[in-house]
Amino acid sequence: MWYVLNFILGAIFGSFLNVILFRSVEGLKINDPPRSFCLNCKVSIKWYDNIPILSYILLGGKCRNCKTKIPIRYFLVELLIAFSFTFHSLLFAKFECILLNIFIFSTVVVAYVDFKIMMIPDFSWWLLWIVSVLDLFRDTRFWYLRFVSLFIVLSIFLILKKIYVEGLGEGDIYLITPIAFILNLPLSIYHLLLSSILALIFSLVNKKKIVPFGPFISISGYVLYVFMLKYF
Ligand SMILES: [Zn+2]
Repeated sequence: MWYVLNFILGAIFGSFLNVILFRSVEGLKINDPPRSFCLNCKVSIKWYDNIPILSYILLGGKCRNCKTKIPIRYFLVELLIAFSFTFHSLLFAKFECILLNIFIFSTVVVAYVDFKIMMIPDFSWWLLWIVSVLDLFRDTRFWYLRFVSLFIVLSIFLILKKIYVEGLGEGDIYLITPIAFILNLPLSIYHLLLSSILALIFSLVNKKKIVPFGPFISISGYVLYVFMLKYF
């Protein structure tokens, strides 16, 4: 029952995430207009055509009104969140599952929006602070070290920012602080290394000078958090 609930909740949150992603990138307000609409014919989408995962399949990936193709990304994001919530519920206890669900939600927001428009929405790192506080209840050992971890990572990061002013934005700092608090020492140091290496490889492969750092911070943070909950 818990797995099924996670799949359904994942699909609903995935659908909500689509709204956030689209509206963040387009610079629209999250709650205005209140209803979702077709990008082509602007007709607002009825509730029965807005059921996560199912509606996309039933409509054959097309708008009911104008038959324009709905980008497959909507369907994929819903599936991704539904499957990751289910994965968390299968592998972890309930409390840990909830923490990971919040973390992956924030990760997808950062990965998508920062890649698209080089901007990290504020609420994505606020979500990580929620995980940070809740994680203190999960594991009370070495709680004081979390502050040391935060201090060390922040110091290294500020030094890096002084050297490479262009690449690192303020959003990256807001993003890495709660993750340093969650992962604690020594994982937070590995996290900084892993995200830097991934960003470096990406910039070499794509021959780009300025690469958004946020997606790499988020994704490697999520992977290490899964690892930490499983083995620490
Ligand atoms: Zn339409």
